[in-house]
Amino acid sequence: METRIPIDVVREIVRRVQHAAVADFSPRTGVVCPVCGGRLTPGRLGVTKSLPWCGRVRERYHRCGHCGARFKSVEEG
Ligand SMILES: [Zn+2]
Repeated sequence: METRIPIDVVREIVRRVQHAAVADFSPRTGVVCPVCGGRLTPGRLGVTKSLPWCGRVRERYHRCGHCGARFKSVEEG
């Protein structure tokens, strides 16, 4: 018997894996994509969502301009 994983489930897993990879954000040098290793420099960060500062930590969501991967970064102030 063949078992197929529904595409919706696959997409959800991929999304979680990509967002589970957290990059360090620097306001001076930007952030390195955890998927392809390409650097996103300030001005070309591909930020899709910025969260407000939570204590000393701020999270951002990015879409890599090199490979298109979505990932999260953390800035510590
Ligand atoms: Zn990338």
